[in-house]
Amino acid sequence: MKNHDADLTLDPSDWAEFRALAHRMVDDSLDHVATLGDRAPWSPIPADARSALTSEPLPLAPQGAEAVYGEFVERILPFTNGNRHPRFWGWIQGNGTPLGMMADMLAAGMNAHLAGLDQPAKLVELQVIAWLAELMGFPKDSSGLLVSGGSMANILGLAVARHARAGYDVRAEGMFGGPRLTVYTSTEIHSWAQKAVELFGMGSTSLRKVPVDGALRVDVAAMRAMIAADRARGDRPICIIGSAGTVNSAAIDDLSALADLAAAEQLWFHVDGAFGALAALSPELRPLVAGMERADSLAFDLHKWGYLPYEIACVLVRDAAAHRATFALTPSYLRDEGRGVIAGGLPFADRGPELTRGFKALKVWMTLKAEGVGRIADVIEQNVAQAREFAERVARIPGVVVVAPVSLNIVCFRVAPEGTTPEQQDALNKELLLRIQEEGLAVPSGSQLGGRYILRVACTNHRSRWSDFEALLEGVSRIAAALGSKA
Ligand SMILES: *Cc1c(COP(=O)(O)O)cnc(C)c1O
Repeated sequence: MKNHDADLTLDPSDWAEFRALAHRMVDDSLDHVATLGDRAPWSPIPADARSALTSEPLPLAPQGAEAVYGEFVERILPFTNGNRHPRFWGWIQGNGTPLGMMADMLAAGMNAHLAGLDQPAKLVELQVIAWLAELMGFPKDSSGLLVSGGSMANILGLAVARHARAGYDVRAEGMFGGPRLTVYTSTEIHSWAQKAVELFGMGSTSLRKVPVDGALRVDVAAMRAMIAADRARGDRPICIIGSAGTVNSAAIDDLSALADLAAAEQLWFHVDGAFGALAALSPELRPLVAGMERADSLAFDLHKWGYLPYEIACVLVRDAAAHRATFALTPSYLRDEGRGVIAGGLPFADRGPELTRGFKALKVWMTLKAEGVGRIADVIEQNVAQAREFAERVARIPGVVVVAPVSLNIVCFRVAPEGTTPEQQDALNKELLLRIQEEGLAVPSGSQLGGRYILRVACTNHRSRWSDFEALLEGVSRIAAALGSKA
């Protein structure tokens, strides 16, 4: 007989030693977050760290957890892109929270498999989806799914739309069962929409982009006309996508008008509320996204303006049967036996393409309960107030213009000194942005608006205090003056 005392496992051989290392990991992580403000938001990766991280041979022999952790602390942890920092306002990113970090650790410790199965983790996800539906003004019996991010949440929403409105069995026939299917949205839509129609085999020309007005909101009359013209040509319109906060400027489409148009045209109404939907948590801000609650499907992130650590987003679908009909597929080895571990089946696997999923819901559940919705809403309101005040103050710097209305929490501005050409201004603004980042002062990001280079300050940051914005104002004023005097 073989002696089985030496059977292998990947558990630690010395639990006490591993426990000490694990406690150090938690302490170091919390120390790092607690002292973020003492460091620059971003500093470039040193050359030796870069080469060590990109040229190491495949590790065949064990190096030990202690040594690998040491390398993490030295070469990885200090050089993030800065998004946890109080002076980070680039693109639209989130900070994460210490409680969210710990919840993710607990979830990883449980290593729960969330296709469904009869376990409390499933009940927590169902509860979280019901809470989020209530917060967004959706009916109690709405369906939903927690996914990795806003892109995925939006893609799933559009998948349900296509299945529900194709007019034939799109699961069986793909794109070959009828006329060309078309989708309507604004020119300001996030890039996920084009990826989606390409992925679905609909082709990017099926995504019909409608012009926007001066406030960067979709022109509803133009959309109606485009739908009519496409119908006359023999296309089959299936869906309208509204934006509750566009990625560039946080412009909010007239969602009530889009809901009316979708109803009149019998189209699916999907809303991309990646960050803007979270405004609904605040009674004061909720009117800004009115009409969103009439959507057939709504996608939003919790890792942006919900402040939770990556990755977490949600798609809500009003018609639970339509959601299920798009994805449900039960092979014999996954059948609900009504009893045992698989009792209740795999509800989450039936709501999207993924089978194995982790326990993403835990950080949402713990955070909503620990902080309460009201406290999160207060921070969201603070971000909107910060954006409004920043816009007012930055516009007072000589040569600076705010180039889009501040509808929510994003300020778009550029320096446009008198006597310079637009091309010179583009170069100047690019340089201004990079110097602000490279000085380690703050991280705004750049974009293009109306064909011109602009700077963006997106406030989805629960760590920013007003003094952080004052530091950026000082920097813009000082660096713009220095660049201007050289122009
Ligand atoms: C960020 C964003 C997305 C994509 O969400 P991810 O979480 O980055 O996948 C979609 N739409 C808008 C408006 C966004 O701001």
